[in-house]
Amino acid sequence: MESALLIKDLCKDYGKYHVLKSVNLDIPKGSIFGLVGRNGAGKTTLMRIITGLAEPTSGTYSLGGISSDNRKILSVRRRMGSIIESPAVYRNLSAYDNVKLQYINLGMTSFDSIPELLELVDLQGTGKKKAGKFSLGMRQRLGIAVALCGKPDILVLDEPINGLDPQGIIQMREILLRINRERHTTILISSHILEELSKLATHYAFIEKGEILQTLSSSELMGKVRKASRLKVSSTELLCPVFDREGVEYKVEDEETLDIFSDITASRIVGLANGANVEVISITDNNESLEGYFMNLVAKREGIT
Ligand code: ATP
Repeated sequence: MESALLIKDLCKDYGKYHVLKSVNLDIPKGSIFGLVGRNGAGKTTLMRIITGLAEPTSGTYSLGGISSDNRKILSVRRRMGSIIESPAVYRNLSAYDNVKLQYINLGMTSFDSIPELLELVDLQGTGKKKAGKFSLGMRQRLGIAVALCGKPDILVLDEPINGLDPQGIIQMREILLRINRERHTTILISSHILEELSKLATHYAFIEKGEILQTLSSSELMGKVRKASRLKVSSTELLCPVFDREGVEYKVEDEETLDIFSDITASRIVGLANGANVEVISITDNNESLEGYFMNLVAKREGIT
């Protein structure tokens, strides 16, 4: 797949602190690429570098095939829109005027497409209301409209969901999906909550302490999340020897509860239980959460350092 952004051996030091440690990432064109990491992992630093707000200590990145050590990167970077930390919004201007100002900054002379852009981010009909009176979600969406001026090929969004209420999160998700589908814009989006990104991302990179722990596609992630069935039974003590004999992978929670990780049908579970005179009270899905998967990755890294 063609790359929208290719990051090679990128390092960033602040004094003796290694904030980014040889980061390598390939962000495919047209993807929604989720950068997932806890607070302080290095997400903002990485985004500041690729948007030109900070210089790397070493390493390069290329945008649309142009390397960051080529002077042409400045013009290629104009094909990138971003919101880093907080949206670049003038609080004393309306949504329309904020967008118009950005059009002017970019040297655009026709403002005909502004209503369409405001409609895309669900801010049509906000009229003369100043952005300072907007809710956080509205301001974030206006920031996205400003970032989309000039139809960039790639949008870089640093924690755009942070602080939004559930309704605002859904609205933001739908807008980002629309931008990706209708405009074919590649989106690089960071979050510390994997569960929220999972509803839109096509690819992921997990970052911890400046290191990329893993990159994978959303289908690969779904395949890796451990599938489990939770069993309520009359006695785990009587059932476990049967499972041991049959090679069923399980983990006991208490005297009447266990999780099974093997791919085994409900009727076989009941059959094995019956053979041991154990009553099966219920079988429910208890798959590993995405957050659990991510925290496991982090824990494994801590184990080796
Ligand atoms: P958060 O979600 O909390 O912003 P993050 O993943 O975006 O987390 P960064 O903001 O990139 O993380 O910060 C990564 C590390 O680099 C942190 O330990 C931070 O304290 C440090 N750091 C960031 N900017 C600077 C700076 N200008 N000088 C010194 N250290 C910095």
